[in-house]
Amino acid sequence: MPIFEYKCNHCEKEFEKLVFAGEENTISCPKCKSLEVVKKMSATSFMGASMGKCTTSSPKGFS
Ligand SMILES: [Zn+2]
Repeated sequence: MPIFEYKCNHCEKEFEKLVFAGEENTISCPKCKSLEVVKKMSATSFMGASMGKCTTSSPKGFS
């Protein structure tokens, strides 16, 4: 499951959230409940996911 980092444009709070398919448009700020949140690229979760795939499917392409 992907965990994304979000930042609220309203109060500037940053938070992480586990997002399921179809829920991306319903993310709201836990502090002010604003829907004006932007997704940040999370380097840690992205690397973890891609490395997990690569080790099983295509180890050659990763080097
Ligand atoms: Zn907020």
